[in-house]
Amino acid sequence: MTLKKSVSVFGVTGSIGASTVDVLKSHTDKYVVEAVTAHRNVDALARAAIELGAKCAVIGDPSCFADLRDALAGKGIEIAAGEDALIEAAERPSDIVIAAIVGAAGLKPTLAAIRRGARIGLANKETLVCAGALMTAEISRHGATLIPVDSEHSAIFQVLEDREEMRIDRILLTASGGPFREWSLKDMQSVTRVQALAHPNWEMGAKISIDSATMMNKGLELIEAWHLFPVAEEQIEIVVHPQSVVHSMVEYPDGSVLAQLGSPDMRTPIAYALSWPDRIKVDAPRLDFATIGRLNFEAPDTNRFPALRLARQALQEGGTLPTVLNAANEVAVEAFLNDRIGFLDIAGTVEKVMTRLGSEPLTSLEQVFETDEMVRRETSACLVSAS
Ligand code: NAD
Ligand code: MG
Repeated sequence: MTLKKSVSVFGVTGSIGASTVDVLKSHTDKYVVEAVTAHRNVDALARAAIELGAKCAVIGDPSCFADLRDALAGKGIEIAAGEDALIEAAERPSDIVIAAIVGAAGLKPTLAAIRRGARIGLANKETLVCAGALMTAEISRHGATLIPVDSEHSAIFQVLEDREEMRIDRILLTASGGPFREWSLKDMQSVTRVQALAHPNWEMGAKISIDSATMMNKGLELIEAWHLFPVAEEQIEIVVHPQSVVHSMVEYPDGSVLAQLGSPDMRTPIAYALSWPDRIKVDAPRLDFATIGRLNFEAPDTNRFPALRLARQALQEGGTLPTVLNAANEVAVEAFLNDRIGFLDIAGTVEKVMTRLGSEPLTSLEQVFETDEMVRRETSACLVSAS
């Protein structure tokens, strides 16, 4: 009998969180759950903690503490609330941490888990976008292991497995193109929240759904890929692939291109982050190639999707610019979701803030947190002055 691995799930109430719960529930012989966390959704957090038999449940918003206490009364599950409690939950001894908080809010708990040498199943791409070089340095310093959960990066990771020393010519990062892949800029001007939230292939949280619609998600993934894999920026190419069946590809110097394929179901990459280097059974729909019929590929259009250009610029200039891009985007997406700005204003706002603030050399994690806060203030002010 093999020893069970212990797992903590950060952002257990979200889309990735729910898929993680599903995988864990079908493998209770292999995994036990240490801590689960959420921001404000007390009921879903309590449900997940009970279902998974977690030792501890933490709610990020301190005002939800009493509700969580009531919801878990008599269950024998430790509870806590607040940002520091999230960090303490990450410090608890678990073999694996699934980092599935959305946005820069995920940085500190992920860092705490890295610093105790845990294996991180990283869904929270913002961690690498905002502080990639500093985070990867912390990972090597503390002997932590990072396994990507983002489907594209999981695909590349699976293709590269044990081949990291080998030269790669290109990474081909696939993108669905989102709901507006074929829309004109003029039509995109009047996109509504509901239209932007309706992704053709994936069911995801609100923020990443909007990022997919603007294609900022692929921009963030470009930066994420650069931090994860041994390639130069110009060796990462984005390819639009509307069916989301090929999750990404790697080209080798001899011209071979290796890909990982699967149905668009996040349980597959989540399971791999949990079971690596083994594989476990996942109940994901199987590919039926005769039904799929064809797989299409096309070049991305940076005119209609300027977020792609902005993310590449942030990666090229480096320093604090990716942190600026990310924070400005988070604020602009929130403003769009609250009907305060139009769809095209999301990238417009990010560009304005990037131009205004520019880039500074990045030297410390404290600087990342300070920059993140400063950019949020600047972007909010920029939205007010525009309205
Ligand atoms: P979601 O909005 O569905 O869930 C986010 C989770 O984070 C929730 O549990 C929420 O309670 C928690 N949270 C939000 N704000 C928080 C805060 N300030 N403090 C503490 N907790 C907070 O998001 P999601 O779609 O599950 O995405 C999570 C992460 O995974 C994102 O970084 C996203 O880019 C990445 N990702 C998601 C998918 C997907 O299919 N959903 C795919 C690839 C990568
Ligand atoms: Mg992805």
